[in-house]
Amino acid sequence: MARVRIPDNVAAVVMFRHRRTCCICNIPDRTVQIHHIDEDPSNNAIENLAVLCLECHNFTQISGGFGRKLGAAEVTLSRDDWVARVARAKEQADKLIVARMAGLPPEPVAGSGCSSSDNLRLIGHFEKGGFGSSGVEVKRPACGAASGGLR
Ligand SMILES: [Zn+2]
Repeated sequence: MARVRIPDNVAAVVMFRHRRTCCICNIPDRTVQIHHIDEDPSNNAIENLAVLCLECHNFTQISGGFGRKLGAAEVTLSRDDWVARVARAKEQADKLIVARMAGLPPEPVAGSGCSSSDNLRLIGHFEKGGFGSSGVEVKRPACGAASGGLR
């Protein structure tokens, strides 16, 4: 189908939501373009558009060979995930700015799964003689790193 120029206001929204960053590799400052997920260049509906860098865009064009083509479903999943992450990052940044203006210490980043207060709580449990009174050792993996110290 004939390519229809993506309206400027639509392109602006798409670029803004992606922070002008490829939703597949998330590498900043790459040259990006707006990809039509269903490969119909006349379908400029926002849900059909995703920001891809030129390299990742190439993976949507593969036909045959050994490389696995980057298909519509995968692009959509990556797009939705990336757009949500960008939105969350903006929210976090807003909170930091508000906290700074109010003179408050910054809150730990939510969802990092490994806050220092968690570790302190863990240490407290061990100092009191382990978890609970049953004597059963509760194994809890240390955050990401080598967990040898807890075994
Ligand atoms: Zn990319």
